[in-house]
Amino acid sequence: MREYTLIRARRKTLGLQIKDGEVIVRAPMRLPKATIDAFVVKHEDWIVKKLAKERAAQDLPKLTEQELISLAKQAKEVIPARVAYYAALLGVEYGRITIRTQKTRWGSCSAKGNLNFNCLLMLAPPEVLDSVVVHELCHRKHMNHSKAFYDEIVRVMPDYKARHAWLGQNGRALMNRAER
Ligand SMILES: [Zn+2]
Repeated sequence: MREYTLIRARRKTLGLQIKDGEVIVRAPMRLPKATIDAFVVKHEDWIVKKLAKERAAQDLPKLTEQELISLAKQAKEVIPARVAYYAALLGVEYGRITIRTQKTRWGSCSAKGNLNFNCLLMLAPPEVLDSVVVHELCHRKHMNHSKAFYDEIVRVMPDYKARHAWLGQNGRALMNRAER
């Protein structure tokens, strides 16, 4: 039997996830262990495929110093224009825009409205980059991750969640590429 991490939660269905080589199963509170084991066995092919895919993503070639410089250069041209566009749409103002190579975050927004973006976003699809821009700009209205904050995001970007999900799937592998 394959090992997995079991997370019991208030839910009605079983959920399966692969994260950092770990198989995670989310299950309803009282579902019998045998049923959960059977579920994992049934999805063995899927698990094997997913684990292989994750490993492949982690093995993407590291970016060279030259490539990182080139990404930062691109980002300095592209990101300010996206910020200006969405800031107008949201009706917010902002301060300085800084581009950096970061291994832990995609963007941030200071209390003063200075924005910071990860140059690795240039390797993500444009609609994903835009979702990070909108996220940070919405912090000009709400300095938190409240419902009001997400309502504001969805107002200008109804498919935000789907766009942002890309980072959940591929973000770590992308950041790994900047490590040396
Ligand atoms: Zn945020």
